Amino acid sequence: MSFELLGLSQPVLQALSEKGYTAPTPIQEQAIPLVLQGRDLMGIAQTGTGKTAAFTLPSIDRLRAAERGTPRRSCRMLVLAPTRELAGQIADAARDYGALSGLSTAVIVGGTSVNRDRQKMARGVDILVATPGRLVDLLDQGAMTLNHVEILVLDEADQMLDLGFIHALRKIVGLLPQKRQTLLFSATMPKAIKDLAARYLREPAHVSVTPAATTAERVTQYVCHVSQPEKQALLTLSLSKGLASDEIDRALVFTRTKHGADRVVRHLDKAGIRANAIHGNKSQPQRERALDEFRQGRVRVLVATDIAARGIDIPGVSHVFNFELPNVAEQYVHRIGRTARAGRDGSAIAFCAPDEKAYLKDIEKLTRQTLQPIPLPPSFRAAVEQLGRMPEEPSRQVHSRPEPRLKVQAKPAPHRGARPPQGGERGRAGRGGGRRSSGGARAAR
Ligand code: AMP
Repeated sequence: MSFELLGLSQPVLQALSEKGYTAPTPIQEQAIPLVLQGRDLMGIAQTGTGKTAAFTLPSIDRLRAAERGTPRRSCRMLVLAPTRELAGQIADAARDYGALSGLSTAVIVGGTSVNRDRQKMARGVDILVATPGRLVDLLDQGAMTLNHVEILVLDEADQMLDLGFIHALRKIVGLLPQKRQTLLFSATMPKAIKDLAARYLREPAHVSVTPAATTAERVTQYVCHVSQPEKQALLTLSLSKGLASDEIDRALVFTRTKHGADRVVRHLDKAGIRANAIHGNKSQPQRERALDEFRQGRVRVLVATDIAARGIDIPGVSHVFNFELPNVAEQYVHRIGRTARAGRDGSAIAFCAPDEKAYLKDIEKLTRQTLQPIPLPPSFRAAVEQLGRMPEEPSRQVHSRPEPRLKVQAKPAPHRGARPPQGGERGRAGRGGGRRSSGGARAAR
């Protein structure tokens, strides 16, 4: 299948070829023709499947074909996303894909200057990507209207509900024209999302891909049994070996708490390993800087909590370290999905303390995979002793508050963890070089 066969216009095809995309991903193959026909769409797909292009490319063509001017103090396409990072990523993608189509794009998110957003909206834009909270602020201030929206996209709808945006969503949708095209994307399909779809979509087409399972398939998963206070020594050792030998390209480390993330960064810093933390207590500029430095490979370790990391698309993450196991197994699948992006392989290493064994069991049940046990590395005791000599509080994290927990489906969807359907990844096969590395695991040994 090629992009040409999906019916996209020449400027969009050219923008795609400039990005180096040769074949559509499965979600793009399914969704693009339906969106081009003007259908409403319910898509089950998560970040990493190419869903941003699946809704942006055909929407650009629909906007172009409708030939309406850019409305002042409004927009023609509204994309709502749960987090600032995701909104920024979608806007970047829309700019790239629409570069030759003459459509303007803007992003409005919390944590930035409201005045600047008001100015942006005074002129009006074609494609607006927003987080619900800031959009409602601007609407309440009368800085803009939604009277001219032709296409509404709700991206990562399950996370928007998890983060408590339902009231904002209701308000926003209530201000939109009845006659519009609505595209709803969600990684999971709990009842709340079905209800949302029933309310906002008209005779929607349904498309779905099974990224959780297929992602898990391409990630080599390890578990190392280690006590909680000794995890830091194991991480420091694994990272210093893996980074020095280039077996680790970029590593994402997940902790359960914000303080835990900061503490890991401090320890790594003392050991001479540059790392940034990203979590809910960081300001927007700090979060953006951390992501940028990580993306560009200037800082090769990013320590994150679940909420901050979900939905973030960072190609080239070779290793995911689960410093603490998530207490909801679904979250594990989201975490390890940060690696093995765009057809590549990756490694995930779980550090499992004795009191986390029940979480490990849940994870293995959900993914229907057994994590490969790896032993502690030979130099581990020395690393623990060296760390013990460092003046740091050893057990504060037990008392620090976790980030608000994402409410994810406790029960796996039927397809979760199953083998991917035959050929299910065919659109992506061959992309990305198929790198397979277990550097972190090897380094941990
Ligand atoms: P998304 O799920 O939209 O966050 O996309 C995941 C990653 O895949 C992003 O880095 C995209 O730039 C990339 N991508 C999307 N579509 C394609 C494609 N057809 N070929 C190659 N890469 C793609």
